Amino acid sequence: MHLPVRLLLLGSFLLCSGALARADAGEGPAAPPAAQPNAGGTIDVSTSMPVKDHHLPKLAFDGSASTYFLTRGGVKAGDDLTVALPADLHVIGISVSTGTPDHQYQLAHGELALSHDGAAFQTAVPFTDGHATVSSIEGSVRALRILVTEADSSPLAINEITLAGVARLPPIRFRTRFLVDYHDAPEAKPFAETCKSLCEEWYPTFTDMFDTPEAPPQRSVVRLLFDLNKGVAYATTAGDGISEIHVSKLWAVQHPDDTALIIHESFHIVQGYSGVSGHDHLGWLTEGLADYVRNRLFMPVEIKPDPNKAKYTDAYKTTAAFLMWLEDHKKKGICFKLNAAMRIPNS
Ligand SMILES: [Zn+2]
Repeated sequence: MHLPVRLLLLGSFLLCSGALARADAGEGPAAPPAAQPNAGGTIDVSTSMPVKDHHLPKLAFDGSASTYFLTRGGVKAGDDLTVALPADLHVIGISVSTGTPDHQYQLAHGELALSHDGAAFQTAVPFTDGHATVSSIEGSVRALRILVTEADSSPLAINEITLAGVARLPPIRFRTRFLVDYHDAPEAKPFAETCKSLCEEWYPTFTDMFDTPEAPPQRSVVRLLFDLNKGVAYATTAGDGISEIHVSKLWAVQHPDDTALIIHESFHIVQGYSGVSGHDHLGWLTEGLADYVRNRLFMPVEIKPDPNKAKYTDAYKTTAAFLMWLEDHKKKGICFKLNAAMRIPNS
């Protein structure tokens, strides 16, 4: 089946801002979510603030003053970076320093909050001169949150988060926040929630698997919006670095077993080929790689194009079948090389 899915190649593009406004309950900034249950022995970090290039949150835990987490742009009141700790990690003190090595981009107005259950946070201490320290913690801490309390047009750099009493840090895992909105189509809830779970599991995996120096950073926030009245789905990234996947309301209800479409769409966010000059004619390959990931890496299926009609440039499943044949019979790893080349102008 030719999947009628389209990709918007223009990156600086925000659709359906009205729908997004309605998705936010209340008039103030949306409250940060609870720290997700963390039983995996990792330190899980999530944030509402888009990442600048590859200044990822793990750089705030590496013990180096020369590397840091950096936001893509200014910050809003209510923005946060939340850190969920493993249950068996005994932290006796926490220190957070913000700003670059030359003291730019400090947090001017903010607070450090702690949680004993991962859900309810209490302010522990405000930031002063870009720093916040809690020196003696009573009881167990399951999560900490750096909260922006006033908007700032400058980016924010979080240089180091130090956990006192921890001799060896567990691995740092960056968890993208997938915000799902199906208020236009409540009957699509099961489909939408499954898509959210699939994205949480697979998007970071594919981001790591297909990482190259030119890759877009793992997104902090991806919105899954079930708001289309026609077509099937498409992915886009707005100028503020927040990605969106829009899905047809009708398709979600009429094709409840087609949740794998979200794998195809989320891979477009991983690809980040937007605006790469010289590749405008290679949309068939962009779509073919997304279907390769869906039909080989996510849920392997055999695709048998009609040899009398099919061309490898037919995009989607037909191109995916060609890529599988190349991987199996000609050049193993070709899909990773093609992905890398697609991110480089005129390659
Ligand atoms: Zn596509």
